[in-house]
Amino acid sequence: MSKAKVVVVGSLNMDMVSHSLRLPAPGETLVGHDFVMAPGGKGGNQAVAAARLGASVAFVSRVGTRQHGEALLQALRDEGIDTSGSTVDPQALPGIAVIMVASEGGENSIVYVPGSNADLSPADVQASRALLQAAKVVVAQLEVPMPAIAEAFAIARAAGVTTVLNAAPALQVSDELLAVSDWLVVNETEAGQMSGEAEPLAAAHALLKRGPRQVLVTLGAQGALLVTGEGVQTASAATVKAVDTVGAGDTFVGGLATGLAEGMTAIEAVRLGQAAAAIAVSRSGVQSAMPRRAELS
Ligand code: ADP
Repeated sequence: MSKAKVVVVGSLNMDMVSHSLRLPAPGETLVGHDFVMAPGGKGGNQAVAAARLGASVAFVSRVGTRQHGEALLQALRDEGIDTSGSTVDPQALPGIAVIMVASEGGENSIVYVPGSNADLSPADVQASRALLQAAKVVVAQLEVPMPAIAEAFAIARAAGVTTVLNAAPALQVSDELLAVSDWLVVNETEAGQMSGEAEPLAAAHALLKRGPRQVLVTLGAQGALLVTGEGVQTASAATVKAVDTVGAGDTFVGGLATGLAEGMTAIEAVRLGQAAAAIAVSRSGVQSAMPRRAELS
């Protein structure tokens, strides 16, 4: 059987994380005790999650290589991800997140510079038309401009390819984009902010009315709600000892896309995403915590 094809249209960031006892006050210099530089970005994370779970993944993005961009692309290639659909821009910076973490109390401060993620254009996406048309599932998040996502989903829809919009971070999305999204995936906070409804089920129903074929709301350790025109299904999360829940949603979306690309039913694909996310939250790190398919029983 040839591998299930997933195309991710999204962001790549380099996360630069320093650890000190507390966060510095403005103007203060503190001595830290650890530093980690790791590839991230919701797009890259979801692509890696899907690749580890056995999908054949291609990544469509715009990557500045003035600093760190080449390392970001290489990290994807090391996971077997096809980066031929990524436009390289030697003049631009890639996305960079400068993160300070306080080891006492776990508070953090983050400066995020979107860099080349903000430059992904409909023309860049057009250049990957053939990749998109050959996919089973196309996935996007909101760390790249919406016109580029709309272009990707229009190409995918015309070719009968399933589209998955992970509306994260929480931004307002047009009804036109929702109407070409087979799946809208949001966490509880995003569902509330997008719909103005505090309660997840009411939020999901309100969002469903705006055009997607199905709405999936993730509820952390409480699992997920799948709402379609036919009704509501709940999927409880596995009970695990959560060590680091950062990236749970990205692992979930990568698993969902893999399951859908393999031809699973909606709820089976949701369960694959949940099984992968449950393992990821039981380990520290984001991409480094994402499981391989063989680890899922
Ligand atoms: P996000 O990272 O976007 O906030 P969630 O926290 O809702 O997303 O997590 C996404 C999915 O990951 C959940 O639906 C659940 O299946 C799984 N998950 C998250 N946290 C836990 C946890 N503590 N225990 C088990 N599964 C979890």
